[in-house]
Amino acid sequence: MNPAHSSARPVLAVREARKAYSGGVMALDNVSLTISEGELLAIVGPSGSGKSTLLNIMGTLDLPTSGTVEIGGQDAAALSDRRLSALRGRWLGFVFQQFHLTDGLSAAENVATGLLYAGVPRRRRGPLALAALERVGLGHRVGHLPHQLSGGERQRVAIARALVNDPALVLADEPTGALDTANGRAVLDLLVRLNSEGTTIAVITHDRDIAARLPRRIEIRDGRLVADSDDPDARPADHAGGRG
Ligand code: ADP
Repeated sequence: MNPAHSSARPVLAVREARKAYSGGVMALDNVSLTISEGELLAIVGPSGSGKSTLLNIMGTLDLPTSGTVEIGGQDAAALSDRRLSALRGRWLGFVFQQFHLTDGLSAAENVATGLLYAGVPRRRRGPLALAALERVGLGHRVGHLPHQLSGGERQRVAIARALVNDPALVLADEPTGALDTANGRAVLDLLVRLNSEGTTIAVITHDRDIAARLPRRIEIRDGRLVADSDDPDARPADHAGGRG
């Protein structure tokens, strides 16, 4: 564990997670990882290595077949659907490769949708959306519709939507995957800056160059965590069953 994070509060903990799909595929095999407040990390692996499966489990969109996921110390499996969505809305922000903005809504309205499940009164949503757009450098585009924005600007709107409720952790799934090199670099620069301002961010990517730019890198392959730059001794695949 990086000493810089050893005293920071854990935001998310995955413990010994396995995910089996029908057909005998073990998409995740004994994966454990902890993300602490203030971190910026990459989860990197080739196509089919289990990244989406891990993202869904970290985002509490799916439960592991065995093992646990804790968000802010709360076991996701112990909560009702309603309490789990509330936990997700309060603790997590999501950024997707394809932005997922709503066409008929302005940039500010799209960002404000990030507050719908957070219990924020309607009159406060507009000002919070504007502030989030300013944080991503789009204070001059608040009234634009998605089709009036470039790909890089759309992704920055999506990042503002993920940030608007001040989540403890932003999960970004291939956030530069749909962008050209220059816009991809700008989005990565933005994530690095937001992290320096205090936002905890996990980037899921197949791109080793992107991972190389981030302070912590976790590698997964065939559903197993094979390396963690913060914990060079982490070889969970070798430890399976060896604790007794
Ligand atoms: P990645 O995101 O790294 O490309 P995935 O998490 O999508 O990897 O997939 C990991 C493995 O699990 C792959 O072998 C994939 O074919 C399998 N898999 C993913 N989703 C399902 C599913 N719903 N049913 C069966 N197998 C699946």
